[in-house]
Amino acid sequence: MEVTVSPLSLSEVVAALERLYPPHTASSWDRVGLVSGDLDQPVSIVHFAVDPTLAVIEEARAAGADLLITHHPLLLRGVHSVATTSAKGASVTALIQNGIALYAAHTNADVASPGVCDALAGACALVDVEPLEVVDGVGHGRVGTLASPLTLRAFVLQLSTVLPQAVAGIRVAGPADALVSRVAVVGGAGDDFFDAVRASGADVYVTADLRHHPVLEAREEARGGTPYLVDAGHWATESLWLKGARSELLRELGGRGTSLNTHICTLRTDPWDFVIGAATSDNTGGMS
Ligand SMILES: [Zn+2]
Repeated sequence: MEVTVSPLSLSEVVAALERLYPPHTASSWDRVGLVSGDLDQPVSIVHFAVDPTLAVIEEARAAGADLLITHHPLLLRGVHSVATTSAKGASVTALIQNGIALYAAHTNADVASPGVCDALAGACALVDVEPLEVVDGVGHGRVGTLASPLTLRAFVLQLSTVLPQAVAGIRVAGPADALVSRVAVVGGAGDDFFDAVRASGADVYVTADLRHHPVLEAREEARGGTPYLVDAGHWATESLWLKGARSELLRELGGRGTSLNTHICTLRTDPWDFVIGAATSDNTGGMS
């Protein structure tokens, strides 16, 4: 006798995603959840990416995906048109024309456990990992320790072997030969967390999108000491989450997920293409 199994629906996958990444844990300014798609549509091929760029949507289309799960929202700010005259409009149009549902798990995936910050803590080989800061019962960032102390240079070299490579590489503020043991991490833009990093007693803080003034002031405040700062790139620090999100989703779907095909985006959506004129010195004038 033939047993007919109903195809997995988008609503089932969305329900699983919302158990893993509860929308109410997202920041109030964020826009997470389903962006395009019909909850009744069947899902058989799922694509995972950090950014829903036009190239990523094309990659998902070419892979036959019916669902694209991204970390960053496509529509964070108000739009009044989804015509193809803007890139956002062209993205929405391409998703709808090709029957691709888009789902974003952003700040709710940052704070989830396991989530984006756990993936980065894992890449840093941290043990005894705990939240960097707890706000309203939600743990933001992570802090943990290395199994044994490393020089700042050796720590970052080790991290560079597990992070995907971006053109800008990894920028470090601190003396290369200083020993580090306690490490704080926040995937993506993390310069809001300097106070929590100092309070955690971290020797080094791994995050991304660090700007001149916050970094200079943090280094001045530290008087050359800890916490040292590592800007490991926004895309690189968050792309580590994709594989974990895939396995968590498949685990959450259980037997219902066995028919799914899944793909991790192969495109580098870090926007920088080349670098010229980087100084080679470790020390640029005593700030470290
Ligand atoms: Zn991000």
